[in-house]
Amino acid sequence: MERTLSIIKPDGVGRGIIGEIIKRLESSNIKIIAIKMLKMTKKQAQGFYAVHKERPFFDNVTDFMASGPVVVIVLEAENVITKYRKLMGATNYKEAEEGTIRKDFATDIEKNIVHGSDSQESASFEISYFFNSFEIV
Ligand code: GDP
Repeated sequence: MERTLSIIKPDGVGRGIIGEIIKRLESSNIKIIAIKMLKMTKKQAQGFYAVHKERPFFDNVTDFMASGPVVVIVLEAENVITKYRKLMGATNYKEAEEGTIRKDFATDIEKNIVHGSDSQESASFEISYFFNSFEIV
């Protein structure tokens, strides 16, 4: 069993598609083992995306992630990191496959609805960024 962190970003929450995304997770046999809504400060968003701090889009992406509420979710399944990234689709929604969350809903490379960890190392950093052990059931 593997775990990953999913975030429904401010555009996904704002557009009222939390339920749609959760439905896609559950119907793919991905188990939700922790979930909450929160609003990050700019500093918290910068800490979350610290790996990207030298990238030109860092300021925009962290402004966006702090612009409204997000839903953070811990997912568990076999190979869930790869499985969930397939459900999300490519970072750039224009390159995402048909039927993926980003292809269906994203409007911009920076407003791309969802986040998913890209490795076991980033999953454990990202899960512990938002959840303590009592919140993961
Ligand atoms: P993800 O794992 O698919 O979310 O992509 P990354 O972790 O590489 O990047 C984090 C977020 O930064 C992405 O979801 C995008 O919103 C944004 N991003 C990534 N690459 C680019 C880029 O080349 N240009 C812009 N403007 N934003 C980007």
